[in-house]
Amino acid sequence: MQLSYDEVAKALTAAGVPVVRERLAPDAAAAVAAGDEFGVPVVLKLVSPALVHKSDVGAVILDVRGHDAVAGAAGRLTELASILQIDDDGWQILVQEMAVPAASSTEVFIGLKRDPVFGPIVVVGAGGKLVELMPDRAIAACPVTAPEAAEMIRGTVLGTLLGGFRGGLDVVDDVAAVVAAASRLPEVVGDLVEADLNPVVVTERGPVAVDARIAVAEETGSVGEPAFRRPVPDLTPLFEPRSVAVIGASASVVLPGNRVLGYLRRHEYRGRVVAVHPTASDVDGFAAVPSAADLGDIDLACIAVSADRCAEVMEQCGVAGVRAAVVLSSGFSEVGDHELERRVAEAADRHGIVLCGPNTVGVMSPAQRVQVSFSQSQDMLRTPAGSVAIVAQSGALGGSVASQAWERGIGISRFVSVGNQASLTVADYLDHLAADDATHAVAIILEGVTDGRRLLASIEHATRAGKPVLVLKTGRTEVGARAVQSHTGSIAGDYTVYEALLARAGATTVDSLTELLDALSMHRVASRVPSGARMAIVSTSGGACSMTADLCTRYGLQVPTLSDGLQAELATVLPGYAALANPVDVTGRVTTDPSIFGRTMAMLLDSDEIDAVAVSITTVADPMAEQIAAQIVEQAQRSAKPVIVAWTIAAELAPEGLGILRDAGVPVFDDPARALRAVDLGRPRGTDR
Ligand code: ADP
Ligand code: MG
Repeated sequence: MQLSYDEVAKALTAAGVPVVRERLAPDAAAAVAAGDEFGVPVVLKLVSPALVHKSDVGAVILDVRGHDAVAGAAGRLTELASILQIDDDGWQILVQEMAVPAASSTEVFIGLKRDPVFGPIVVVGAGGKLVELMPDRAIAACPVTAPEAAEMIRGTVLGTLLGGFRGGLDVVDDVAAVVAAASRLPEVVGDLVEADLNPVVVTERGPVAVDARIAVAEETGSVGEPAFRRPVPDLTPLFEPRSVAVIGASASVVLPGNRVLGYLRRHEYRGRVVAVHPTASDVDGFAAVPSAADLGDIDLACIAVSADRCAEVMEQCGVAGVRAAVVLSSGFSEVGDHELERRVAEAADRHGIVLCGPNTVGVMSPAQRVQVSFSQSQDMLRTPAGSVAIVAQSGALGGSVASQAWERGIGISRFVSVGNQASLTVADYLDHLAADDATHAVAIILEGVTDGRRLLASIEHATRAGKPVLVLKTGRTEVGARAVQSHTGSIAGDYTVYEALLARAGATTVDSLTELLDALSMHRVASRVPSGARMAIVSTSGGACSMTADLCTRYGLQVPTLSDGLQAELATVLPGYAALANPVDVTGRVTTDPSIFGRTMAMLLDSDEIDAVAVSITTVADPMAEQIAAQIVEQAQRSAKPVIVAWTIAAELAPEGLGILRDAGVPVFDDPARALRAVDLGRPRGTDR
C-alpha cells in the first residue's frame, strides 16, 4: 500500500531528508498561484496513487518559466488526468522548484526495503535515467551513519562521479548525509516495506529529494526488529567432551550410531564411551547401559534414534545430567514437523543441555580425537588437526569440504554440521569459535538464515577478533532456494543482499567449493596471509613470471621493482642473464644448482621491500622437484612472510615434491590464477583491495 503524498512528506521531514521546495495544488488555478509565488523555473507533476511512473505518461513537465507557461502546464496536466481516467483515485498537481544540478553531478537513487532475512536495508546508486545504465549499487543494513554512507557511495561508480570526477566538486559527504537520514525512515514508518527516493538531485545548495514514494505493509504485523548477539552457552562439552554416550546403536545391524562408535574407535577417542541398548551389555565392544536415564556423568550424548523418540531420550539425558547433545536423527522441521522439533529443543533447554541439530551429521574436533559424526569424511587415512573451523548448514557438503581440506593437508580445529538449528544457530557457533584458541579462521557453508542481523553481528565480532570468516552461500537462485527450503526448513533471501551485507560485516564471500578450499589453504596457519600488497615473484620460467605478474596486477597486488642493492645481492647467486628486478627468474641454472632457489627466496623474504613471495614452478618433476620443494619449505618455515606456490605440472610427475609442500602446510596450487585468487580472498577486508 502506497503512502499518500502528505504522509510521505511528513515521514521525510521526520527522518531529516531534505526535500525540494514544493506545494500541492488541488486544481490548475492553485497550481498557477503556487508557480507565481515560487517565481523561479518550476516543475509541474500530476500526482495520484494511480500513477507510479509519472514521466512515462507525460505527467512531469520540467523547467516551466513564467505565469502563462505554468497555466499552460497545469491545464495540460488536468487534461492528462481525464485522459488517464484517474479521477476516481483522486489527483493533484505538485508544483516544485526546479532543482538545478550542480555542474557534472548525477542524480542519485536511494532505496529502502525490508528484507525478509536482514530487516530494513538501504540501497544507493545512480538515479533518474541512470538507474538501469549503472546497476552498480551499495547495500547496507539500516540505519547507517553518514561516514558509513560515504564509504558505501565511494565504493560505487556513482561515488567516482560524485567524488570530484574531472574537476567537479566532491559532494559525497553531502549525499551521504541524505542517505543516513533516509536510512532512518524505517524507524519513522514502522511498517515500511519499500521506499524510493528517485531522484535526489545535487544542487549548489545541497542535495534534495524531488520524488519519493513509500509503500507500507497491507496489514500491520510483526516487522522483525534487529537482533543482537546473545551470550552463548559453554560449548566445551560439545566440542571437547570428556565422555560420549551413543544412543541409537544396534547390537546386530549397522545404524548411524554404530558408525559413530566405529569412528570414535578408529580415531582413538581417549574419553569414556558408553552405548545405550535395551538388552545388550556390549555394543561393538563398548559397554552399554539399558537406558539414557542410566548414563550418569556424561558430557556429550549422540542421539540417533527415530525422530518420535528423541524428545523422550533428551528428557532421560537431562535427568542423567548430560551436558550437550548432538541429534543425528532426521524427520523434524526439514519435513515440516516443527512441533516434534520444538519438543526436543524444549527438553534440552529445560535441562540446560546444549543442543546441536537435529538432522545433523555431527561434530568433530580432530585434535581431541572427537569424531561424534557419521560423516564418511572420517574414513580418510589422515584427518589432521589444525586451525580452520568448518560450520556447515549442509552436513553433506561440509563433510566434502572437510575431506578435501584434509586431502590438501589443511588441518581442522572444529567441524560442526548445524542441522536444523533447533537451538544453537550458525551465529552461536561462530560466537564460540571467535573465542576458541584452536581456531584461526572459520568457513561457513550457509543455506538460509532466519535472523540475518544476528549473523551479521557475529561475523563482525569474529572478524574483529582477528578470525577471518569465509562464506559459501547456497540457495542463491529461486530454484536453488527451493531445494534449500525443503532441506533445512529455512528460507534463502536475495543473494545480492546477502553478499553485500556479509561483505560489509567483514566476511569473505566465495563462489565455489574450490574457492573456499583455496582460501582456506591461505588460513591454515594464521600468519600465512600477507600483511601488505607487495609481492615478489620467483620462478623457473620467464613465461610463468609474466603470467603471475599479470595476475598480481589483476588483483591489485603490487610487484615492486627491487632496489639496486637487492638486485646486486641476487646477482651474487643468479647467472648474469637472469631477470632480477622482480619477477625474479632463477633460470635453468637451477637444474645444475638447485640451491640457488632457496638462496634467492631467502634474500627476498629477508628484505623489507616485499610482503610475500609467490613461487611459480612449471614443468619440474621428481626428483628435482623434491629438492626445490625442500628449499621452499625451509624458507617458508624460516620466514614470517607467506610463501604461496603455483606448480603447474601434472601431479603424477611430482608426487614427492608436491607432497613435501603439502605436508609442511605450504599452500600449493596447480594454477597461478588460483594461487593469486586465494591470496586476494585471504587479504583482510577493507585493505587496498
Ligand atoms: P517519475 O519517477 O515518477 O517518473 P520524477 O518526479 O522522478 O517522476 O521525475 C522524473 C525526472 O524528472 C527525474 O528523474 C528528474 O530528472 C526530473 N525532475 C523531477 N522533478 C524535478 C525537480 N523538481 N527539479 C529538477 N528535476 C526534476
Ligand atoms: Mg522518480
